[in-house]
Formats: sequence, structure tokens, C-alpha cells
Amino acid sequence: MGQMALTRKRGIERGLKLPPEDAVADACPKSSSAGPGSPLLSERNKHFEAALTHMNQGLCMFDAESRLVVCNRRYHEIFNLPHDRLVFGMTQQAVCEVLIEHGCYPPNVTFEDIRESTWQALKAQTAEPILRKLADGRILSVLYRSIEGGGWVSTFEDVTRQRLAEARIAHLSRHDALTDLTNVRTLHTEAGRLLAGVDGDEPALAVLSVDLDQFKTVNDLHGHVSGDELLLAVARRLRENTRKGDIISRLGGDEFVVIFRAHGESAALASARRLRNALAEPYDLSRVRLRISVSIGVSICTDDAPQIEKLLREADLALRHAKSSGRGAIHLFDASMSELVSQRHQLEMELHAAIVGDQLELHYQPLVDISTNRTVGVEALVRWRHPTRGLLPPMEFIGIAEDIGLIAPLGEWVLRRACADAAAWPAHISVAVNVASAQMSRPTFAETVIGILAETGLDPHRLEIELTETTLFVDTETTLGNLDALSALGIRFAIDDFGTGYSSLSYLGRFPIGKIKIDRSFIVAAETRGDALAIIRAVAGIGVSLGMTTLVEGVETQAQLNIARAEGLSQVQGYFFSRPVPKGEIVSFFHD
Ligand code: C2E
Ligand code: CA
Ligand code: CA
Repeated sequence: MGQMALTRKRGIERGLKLPPEDAVADACPKSSSAGPGSPLLSERNKHFEAALTHMNQGLCMFDAESRLVVCNRRYHEIFNLPHDRLVFGMTQQAVCEVLIEHGCYPPNVTFEDIRESTWQALKAQTAEPILRKLADGRILSVLYRSIEGGGWVSTFEDVTRQRLAEARIAHLSRHDALTDLTNVRTLHTEAGRLLAGVDGDEPALAVLSVDLDQFKTVNDLHGHVSGDELLLAVARRLRENTRKGDIISRLGGDEFVVIFRAHGESAALASARRLRNALAEPYDLSRVRLRISVSIGVSICTDDAPQIEKLLREADLALRHAKSSGRGAIHLFDASMSELVSQRHQLEMELHAAIVGDQLELHYQPLVDISTNRTVGVEALVRWRHPTRGLLPPMEFIGIAEDIGLIAPLGEWVLRRACADAAAWPAHISVAVNVASAQMSRPTFAETVIGILAETGLDPHRLEIELTETTLFVDTETTLGNLDALSALGIRFAIDDFGTGYSSLSYLGRFPIGKIKIDRSFIVAAETRGDALAIIRAVAGIGVSLGMTTLVEGVETQAQLNIARAEGLSQVQGYFFSRPVPKGEIVSFFHD
């Protein structure tokens, strides 16, 4: 009698509920008595056999004596076994030994391990599958169910792909997709872990809030691909320059946070400086080589019940301070910063009211023709007559207006006021208005200007718009469209603060620019420094050859005026002639 028949007979004798004979015929060697010609073959059996053979899961069944009674084709496939390797009647131990010998399981897995986990699973009586790892890395989900009267059935499903996908999703939800650094969500849990370890004897915890200076310009100038590459390179340098266990996280954009154990303030600041210097080394990206600087805010926690939210907030405040004091700065949080930030918040709220509530004023400063010494135009410079703080200079609120999206309405107010004022002045006086990048990149900007000209009746030839180099480099279609549309009307454009940005002369030919305004710092330096003088000279030369007006800002002395004249500039502006003055006073400059 064949092994299978034997097994069946014993099973039936013990009252085991076994599947029909033929169901097992597919995967295990057949005995002669259960051949295809067997009279026991019925429709039901055929269905059962088909189901077993085609099911997606491996299935095997052991009787009360732990002997194999059913085992389908998929089971063999999953374990890469030749289809005649297992025979009915084999004990679980024998089956496991075949699998182990065949190298299905990792080398350290023994039969005892498998038997133990099988019994644990059967005892638990839960529907929870257990996961088994195979030697080749695949993961099986195995479900054990005991059978009434003894024995059990187990099913095996290859869940490798599903598991990998789950692991990937879990990873993504905890990490930043671009840099693979931890994201904000994980930052809090990880920081909690680090914080939990801080007590009296342990070193304090330092939080660095790191922000790239002028990252937006990198994006605008070199495109988002380079921007992303730069962020990746920064992430890599942060990893290389921190220790294992430190937390590095990207909060989004160009903002990073680094958290680590530090022995006090000076150690934390030293680490911050080291990071800043490492990040300042040049970056060789695929399309461009560039340098950046970073600003860093530092907060340190020494108390017993540290809160990560508080530390992050403090580091962020310190960062904002660092940012406002120029590039590459590192600031340590101190309590007075909160006060300054709430003042700023106050200003933000009040600025809304100022724009609609008539608190803005324009002052005008003469632009003087160098050969005739006569005023040929004025620059409009905005001020805020604050209800309690007096007359605020633009430096105190233009940046805020840009940050909170108020620069467009503010700029529109300035344009309207300046055009209306200028319309009442003699026709030979032009008016220059400062326009921010955020205004030039608005699709409606040209329309707005045209509307204001129509409203105020100012001849477009008398309006000059001052742009910074950054605005030109944000050469989006929209900015260029506005530039072209407005210069077609006769409005002139000037480059402001020339020499402080990219100082590249190559773009001058690409845009309809009629004037270069050399930054104030050059005329001051020209008195003592040859390089500053050389730049003034070069700009004057370009003005002549390209037919552009050249002006130097910030002329305060006769000596400086003499330099400007000697170098052949066409216009000057500065306290030597006049400070910016209210509308009522500027008119006195228009007639000699
Ligand atoms: P800017 O366009 O470079 O304007 C010239 C600034 O230099 C003015 O400062 C002016 O008062 C100052 N200045 C002129 N001559 C001299 C001088 O001989 N010596 C010194 N030390 N300074 C001189 P202000 O009015 O404080 O404006 C500062 C900046 O605010 C402006 O720089 C401009 O960038 C911005 N700004 C002013 N009004 C507006 C505006 O309506 N819209 C926008 N977007 N920005 C504005
Ligand atoms: Ca200006
Ligand atoms: Ca300027």
C-alpha cells in the first residue's frame, strides 16, 4: 500500500476529517490506489482539487500525529521544492528538515523554532498570521488553524512585495521625500527620545535652526533642478558634519533643523560655526558651481522638563534675528527676542491699516543732471507716518510688506500717489518709483500701471521704474511681458543699487534698461579704493557705448561730486543736493 493510502487509512481510523483523496494527488506522489481511474472520483472532488491546485496560497495540513496529509502545488513553489520532495505521512519534523536542508530558511532557524512557533500560533487561536522570513529575503505570512479532533492546517502567502510597499510608505511618511532626512513629524518623536535622556548630569541639548541665505534666488537664477540638487548637497553635508544619533531634519523649503547633545552654550555655538563653514564650501552641481551662506539660530535646553516645541520656537526666533543682521550670521536665543518678534507681529497687523488708512507718505529726492546741475527728475521714497512711532523709514516696513504679501497694494499706492503728484509738476521733471520683484512678476502689473497713468494723466515718458538686479534675474515670462509692455509705452526702467547684486553687465543688452544707478557704497569707497573707482569708470563707459543714463547714488560731498563728474557719469543723487523731502518742498528744486 502507498504511503498516502496508509496515511488516509490511519486518519480515518482516528476520525480525522480529511479532504477527499484526490485533492492531495496533485502535489504529492500518488499511490496506485488513488489514481485517476479511482471510483472515488466525484465532481465535488474535482472542484476541490482544482481549488487547491490553483489557490494563491501554499497550503498544508497535518493530522493529530503531526503527519502530512495535504500539501498543494503552491506550497512546493513557495519553498522552491521539487514537486515530489514531500510525501504524505511525513512528520512535521521531517517536512521541516527537508525545508531546512533545502536552504529555505535562514541558517539559524531550527526545527524546534518552527515547532515552537507553530504551537504558539495554534494555542493563541487568533486569526493573526505570523511572518516568516525566508533565506532569500522573501517574507511569508503564515496562518495556522487547528482542526477539530486534532491536527492543523497552515496557509502560506508570499507577502514580500506588500511588505516592501508598506515599509516604503512608512518610511516616506517619516522622511522628507527629497533629502530623505527626517521630516517635521518624526522630528518631534525623535527629539522626544533625545530629550528623555537629558538630566542633570547629561550635557544639554542644542537645537539649530538652519536656513540657506538667498535660496529663492538660486531657484530663480538656476532653476528648480539646481535648487533641488543644492538642497540634497546641503543635506549630505549636514549628515557628514554631525554625529550618529544627532537629529537632522528638513522642515520644508530651505529650512533645516539639527538637534544634538552639547556641553553648554559655547560648544553648541562651536558646532553651529563648524556647520556653517562646511555649508559655505562651494557646491559642484551638475549644471553650475555655486556658493551659499547659511544663517543659524541656536537654542539650548538645560532645564529638567524640556519641551521640544519651545526649543524649536526659540531657535526659529534666533534664526530670524540672524537673518535680519545679514548673511551667514549665527545667533543664540535670548529672551528679548520674543519681545522683538511680537513688535514685528504688531507692525504686520498695523501695516494693513496703514495702506488703506492714509498713513503712508511719499518723500522726493532730486536726481540732478551732472553737466547742468539742474534737477531733471525725482525719486519717490515711501514713509509710514505711524500713529505712535512717528515717521518710519522704508527699511522698517518694506521687508515686512514683502513677507506678508502686502507689497503689491503698497506698491500700487506709491505708484498712484507718485504719478498724481508728478502730473502737477513741470513736464521736464520725471518721477522714479521703486518697484519690487513681487510686483513685476504679477501678471496684472502692466495693466495696473496703464490704469494709473490713464487715471492721473501722467505722460508715460515721465515715469521711470527702478528695479533691482534680482528682479531681472527672475526672468519669468510674466516679468519680461510686463517689462516689454511698459517700455513699449515709453516708460523707462532703471537698475537700482547696481554693484550689490550680481553686478553682471551681460544682461543689460537683453532688457530694455535705460539707466544704471550705481550703489551708494561705491562713491564712498571711490575716494580711497581703486577698485571702486574702476567700477564707476566701467559703468560710465558702458553707459556711453550703450546710450544709457548713468547715475551714482549717495553723493554727500563736493569731492564725491567731482569724482562722478570726472568719471563721466550723467546724473547724481544724494544729500549733497538734498535729502528726500515732502511734496511741498520738492517743487522748489524744479526751477533752477
Ligand atoms: P534706494 O532705492 O536705494 O533709495 C535711496 C536711499 O538712499 C533712500 O533711503 C535715500 O534716502 C538714501 N540716500 C539718498 N541719498 C543719500 C546720501 O547722500 N547719503 C545717504 N546715506 N543716503 C542717501 P530711504 O528713503 O530710506 O529708502 C531706502 C530704500 O527703501 C530704498 O533704497 C528702496 O530700496 C526702498 N524703498 C523706498 N521707497 C520704496 C517704495 O515705494 N517701494 C519699494 N519697493 N521700495 C522702496
Ligand atoms: Ca531706488
Ligand atoms: Ca538705490
